[in-house]
Amino acid sequence: MPSGGGTFTLFRVRGIRVSVDWTWFIVLFLVIFWLGDSYSAVLGPDAGSVEPFLFAVLSALGFFSSILLHEFGHAIVALRNGIGITSIRLWIFGGVAEMDRESDSPSTEFKVAVAGPIVTAVLGVLFAVMGLLVSGSGNFQEGLILRPGPGVDGFSAMFGWLAAVNVIVLVFNLLPAFPMDGGRITRAIAWKVTGKRGSATRFAATLGQIFGYIFIALGIVFLVSGVFGSGIWFILIGILITGAARAAAVQSPLIERIEGVTISDVMDPHPVAVPGSLPAVMAADDYFHRYGWSWFPVIADDGRFLGILTRDAVEAVPEVSREATTVAELVDDSTSGYHVLDDAPLDSLLGNPDIRKFGAMMVTDHTDRLIGVITVEQLGRALEDRPTASGPA
Ligand SMILES: [Zn+2]
Repeated sequence: MPSGGGTFTLFRVRGIRVSVDWTWFIVLFLVIFWLGDSYSAVLGPDAGSVEPFLFAVLSALGFFSSILLHEFGHAIVALRNGIGITSIRLWIFGGVAEMDRESDSPSTEFKVAVAGPIVTAVLGVLFAVMGLLVSGSGNFQEGLILRPGPGVDGFSAMFGWLAAVNVIVLVFNLLPAFPMDGGRITRAIAWKVTGKRGSATRFAATLGQIFGYIFIALGIVFLVSGVFGSGIWFILIGILITGAARAAAVQSPLIERIEGVTISDVMDPHPVAVPGSLPAVMAADDYFHRYGWSWFPVIADDGRFLGILTRDAVEAVPEVSREATTVAELVDDSTSGYHVLDDAPLDSLLGNPDIRKFGAMMVTDHTDRLIGVITVEQLGRALEDRPTASGPA
């Protein structure tokens, strides 16, 4: 997956960076180039060269927006289920919504995975309806494949093409080839049925690898028959799917090892926490000097987790004001989300980037009360030591 170099940020919305990779421009160029010719044929010789080009650009924009909306479908459902989205990126093989962690239940996994295809299906229907409305006559079918014919004008051809392209994206995405949407849906169903994420992942990843090989084989068939563009595209996407599926398969024994283990099984159930009402001067003496740590979780009087207090935040307060400043005032608001539920599966922490920031994660119950802390070391030890059914204890 490309990252960093050659990525252009388009805009940010609610903290999500929406960007395009340079390889996406290859797609745009090919779409505009190929559609320009098709629109010339549809519009006939009287249209000149500007009008077909404008229709091609409009169609490319519609395609671009369709893919973006598909990814926003995934992103909105993920956010609603408490999964953060760091970025949405478009590249040569479509879009990627990057989540900051994996789903912790099969139903969440299913909802997030199915949201993108639902958006694409709705777009396909909308474009088809618009095409039918503007064409009026029965020639919309011709517009679907950009074939010139009586009654096919630029707009019906454009809506027809956009409807067709969304249907293609939909069908392709729903193939059960993990890590594509269909593969994630398959994994969610297998997870629900077996109750085991690890074995469900292994099943979906095996299917993904099979589909990857089928794509590569199809690509070779295309190449041999002289269809080079499709041939290369199928081979590349086959390699991509095979690689990603294999990576997921390699990770699954690790996840299987901690299957059924919850965060509360591994966490430290006696966390040292600073009361939010404490003056900063006492936090400095009784906690930072005494323990020598660089941060502490802060709790309200009722035990609710408020956020993280760092040594730097306390030391930034002038000594004369430390008596009058409470700890709660010094808590960094952005750290109030650094907690996980005690009954969440341990493997849900694996992809959580927040645990790396402080080397630990606060653990709360369902009423937001702080009841534990789990460190990176504890997580690592659980992954190594956890006895398996077959291995030595
Ligand atoms: Zn998708």
